[in-house]
Amino acid sequence: AAKKQRRNAYKIFDQDMMEAKQDYLQIEAYLQTAIENDEFELYFQPKLDLKTNKISGMEALLRWHHPILGNVPPNKFIPIAEETGVIWKIDKWVLKNACIQNKKWAESKMAQQLRVSVNISPIQFSHPDFTEMVKHVLEETGLEPGLLELEITETTVIDNTEECIKNVETLRELGVGVSIDDFGTGYSSLNYLKRFPFDYLKIDQSYVREMFNRKEDMAIVKAIITLAKDLNLKVIAEGVEDSDILECLKDLDCDEIQGYYISRPLSSPDFETMMKLMKRQEELRLLKNTL
Ligand code: C2E
Ligand code: MG
Ligand code: MG
Ligand code: MG
Repeated sequence: AAKKQRRNAYKIFDQDMMEAKQDYLQIEAYLQTAIENDEFELYFQPKLDLKTNKISGMEALLRWHHPILGNVPPNKFIPIAEETGVIWKIDKWVLKNACIQNKKWAESKMAQQLRVSVNISPIQFSHPDFTEMVKHVLEETGLEPGLLELEITETTVIDNTEECIKNVETLRELGVGVSIDDFGTGYSSLNYLKRFPFDYLKIDQSYVREMFNRKEDMAIVKAIITLAKDLNLKVIAEGVEDSDILECLKDLDCDEIQGYYISRPLSSPDFETMMKLMKRQEELRLLKNTL
């Protein structure tokens, strides 16, 4: 019976593998035409400044609505896009559209000017033409460089240290911000931190979400905040899902937070509505104070 079971297990495994492969091939094929077919949309998740209690910026997050596959999450299609090289086109599309949208918002007086952050894939970031592309997109869209930030993961830095340092320096000269995403999950050596002129460390949400349940996670969050302060970097925590964690991060002197407790990622119209509501609330509050 054990043998039979094992054989069945293999069968299931084979079938899973085949389905996964088919999935992969389908996604790969459909990705090629996703831009032309207008299937991508940018969502925006606000970041809250814990010192001012105001929205300080937002992260652009890519959404793919496919007519047959439905909504495919980025964790599923971004790795495939990276392997097949189509990521270059996608990241460029994201960058351009995030800049266009933020330029509109900056001019609309919807709020004070906000900084939009865009996730950049490792291969893309260490490409020698990358900074030229960014410069071109900024010129083309007219967005002030100070209103753009790029998020890269630790592994990007480790794998291509020299090219990366050059690119970060060039971006900083342009006035574009650079932050390290998912900090704490990538690599054990912190040596690279001395050599890079970053703006932000983003504490990975896996540490933040379980802060109260696992004392190791709490220790790591505290250590990252202290490290960031000592290195003169700003620090932002991702994955804040309730007010207890918000209060705790405030006490720990974390600069900014992002997470479902503040807001899920929103479509542009929803983001706009939220910002307008917040502005109106603020105006009413000020009005009440003068009455
Ligand atoms: P990331 O850059 O670390 O983005 C944060 C992810 O956490 C987002 O998932 C966001 O929706 C989710 N999140 C935010 N707050 C919370 C929370 O409180 N709780 C929980 N459980 N989740 C939260 P999303 O949008 O599915 O993106 C996943 C990853 O895909 C991103 O991780 C990023 O690495 C990648 N990605 C997304 N958009 C792009 C893009 O335009 N270009 C590239 N290259 N990568 C992208
Ligand atoms: Mg990110
Ligand atoms: Mg992250
Ligand atoms: Mg991530």
